[in-house]
Amino acid sequence: MREALPHGGMSENPPIRDDAQEFFDEGQLVGVWTTQPLGRRLDYKAPEGGCWIGAFVEVPLGPRKVMGVVWGPGKGDWDYAKTRKVIRVLYVPPMRAELRDFLEKAGAYTLTDMESMLRLGVRAPGLGDPPSMRKIYRKGDVEPDRMTEARGRVLDALDEYGDLSFTLKELSETAGVTSSVVKGLVKLGAVSEQDTPRDLPFVRLDPSLPGKELAPDQAEAAEQLKAGVCSGAYGTTLLRGVTGSGKTEVYLEAVAECLRKGRQALVLLPEIALTAAFLTRVLERFGAKPAEWHSGVTMTERRRTWKMVGQGGAQLVVGARSALFLPFRDLGLIVVDEEHDTSYKQEDGVLYNARDMTVLRASICSAQVILASATPSLESWANAEAGKYTRIDLTSRFGDAVMPDMRAIDMRGVKLAGNRWISPVLKAEVEARVASGEQALLFINRRGYAPVTICRACGHQIGCDHCDARMVEHRFQKRLVCHQCGESKALPEVCPSCEAEDRLAAVGPGVERLAEEAAELFPEARIATLSSDMYGSARALKAEIVGIAEGAADIIIGTQLVAKGHNFPLLTLVGVIDADLGLQGSDLRAAERTFQLMRQVAGRSGRSEKKGTALMQTYQPEHPVIRAILAGDENAFWTAEAGERRMAGVPPYGRLAGIILSSTDPQEVFDLGGELARLDGPLRQIGAQVFGPAPAPVARVRGRHRVRLLVKAEKNAPLQRALKAWIKQVKVPTHMRLSIDIDPQSFY
Ligand code: ADP
Ligand code: ZN
Repeated sequence: MREALPHGGMSENPPIRDDAQEFFDEGQLVGVWTTQPLGRRLDYKAPEGGCWIGAFVEVPLGPRKVMGVVWGPGKGDWDYAKTRKVIRVLYVPPMRAELRDFLEKAGAYTLTDMESMLRLGVRAPGLGDPPSMRKIYRKGDVEPDRMTEARGRVLDALDEYGDLSFTLKELSETAGVTSSVVKGLVKLGAVSEQDTPRDLPFVRLDPSLPGKELAPDQAEAAEQLKAGVCSGAYGTTLLRGVTGSGKTEVYLEAVAECLRKGRQALVLLPEIALTAAFLTRVLERFGAKPAEWHSGVTMTERRRTWKMVGQGGAQLVVGARSALFLPFRDLGLIVVDEEHDTSYKQEDGVLYNARDMTVLRASICSAQVILASATPSLESWANAEAGKYTRIDLTSRFGDAVMPDMRAIDMRGVKLAGNRWISPVLKAEVEARVASGEQALLFINRRGYAPVTICRACGHQIGCDHCDARMVEHRFQKRLVCHQCGESKALPEVCPSCEAEDRLAAVGPGVERLAEEAAELFPEARIATLSSDMYGSARALKAEIVGIAEGAADIIIGTQLVAKGHNFPLLTLVGVIDADLGLQGSDLRAAERTFQLMRQVAGRSGRSEKKGTALMQTYQPEHPVIRAILAGDENAFWTAEAGERRMAGVPPYGRLAGIILSSTDPQEVFDLGGELARLDGPLRQIGAQVFGPAPAPVARVRGRHRVRLLVKAEKNAPLQRALKAWIKQVKVPTHMRLSIDIDPQSFY
């Protein structure tokens, strides 16, 4: 594909043209998808100088100017004289056919309108701005002679963001100082100020630098992945291996091969807090850091990444799920690390699963996919069993690290004082670690202080005013918080129901309360609590994690955040406070989630030389999931779980779609839900069944009543088409909402 490079002076900014695409002369009609929710493509006249398919354009819409992409010739079903003209073509490479195709197919799969899909593809500020010079700020090499608190904050901010660059505004805002403080530091040489083009290419990564010497099974896995990359064709590999087996090391070899071929690579991580460690490994392996794309980078950097990915100035991107929608020039490899992680499913707005969409995009752009996990999702496991994915197993931990000993602590025989959760056995084990300078992790998958606040006088439980959910006490924030809608309120002094004083009591454990108990039980130990809501920023959390890895704590108290692939070399004991927590509930994936989570947590332990121990407190030691975890028999677990799902005809052996209707009026949602259930003709035609309407498990969120229908179909049934025809039969008033969730992950 040829691209005319910007010629002439910077001030002219000729748009970047894609000669391979159909061209429209001035005045010809073009069809433009905008980012506005209009439900249809609009016709415009091509501007002076013409335009082409894929061009990013600015178009008039009513009194406004909005962004859009030229998708094809116009339909011409509108009065030509009244048709307005494209205002201008933006100075960015056109959207490639591959990405347009991906957005269309992903939209068709998730039943999402094109405008919403397009918005996913243009999430960077200032895309339309011409290239220009600007001043950027970095750390200088002089220490200021006189430190003030404000100056310290500026230098801290620069340190925190490593070698990312700031604009003056970003730096002063991040540090919370006025721009004159920054200017003062520039004068002293403590901060450097440079004129640069706004969006600089990233430093080239060097794939020829040597990697670590691989163990035989690692080397074999790397060869297989490299061969896939070399084929230049689509393919998906499930890279399975216990935590610490060297999956990252191995897939970095595939990345190296991809870079050598001159193609781009993308690594998706489920959690921003994991990026720091990954950046370091890329730096060690390739001599420079990759581009980043997630909510923890500055807007300036986001824009730079978006642009450089499209212009070829970024070879490797590490990012969150939305990085999948970046305008890559030639994407050859996508790694989805911790592929089983539920955060790959976006539960807001466009409901997509990044893991599945990765496979779709790769199949369109002839790229390889590597799904890496110690505990794959049943979906991926089944695809590998069916031969759709290649499977590679790394069976041993690298070096001498071995899987931890796993044991259950049968809580049925344990007598604990009220509001105590740590059994004597676990307590003794923790004490032993602390005494020998090792780390212990106490895990509970529940944020906050206590899940329930109850009035001891009347039994009233404090609930959310807008949702059918109990408020969770967060003592750290001194508030009650609804985990459904995020609403919070101060802890009341008297019971809101019977007005009794001093009778409100916290019931049940949360991570904050566990920390309190640990502080009492282990007064000498240094305790760190890791819960996503206890840190002001992702950066602060990241810093805490780095500190812990270096030994800044003896005991770590954490929620599922710690289960996600952090490497704590000193950690040799994991105590799971309530292994039964995930087993309750009606979620189809409850067993799978619990199994994965427990294995992940146990995998935190003993990652370096010392053997680790994982202890699980449970009231149901004979539960099949608990037994499978203890036996370490993954295949037995998956085979049993797969058998049950196949019998029930549910994913991955059947298909589900969730429909949620919501409105402030409960009667209205039930009426509409009932109507849909009756009009099930289009669904019956493909052999699908509809269940419901039923109140959703969380029947009220943010004051809206929610009703749920569930559609179940056979695996190969044309579900989307039938759903469309089905929904079309009813009219959804504008104040009501209907959202469709294909392959729902959570059933709230
Ligand atoms: P995983 O991604 O499977 O959890 P990693 O790739 O992070 O495993 O490897 C775990 C640890 O072992 C890391 O610190 C990594 O650097 C180290 N490691 C793995 N393989 C090798 C190797 N061949 N040589 C040296 N160190 C290795
Ligand atoms: Zn609420």
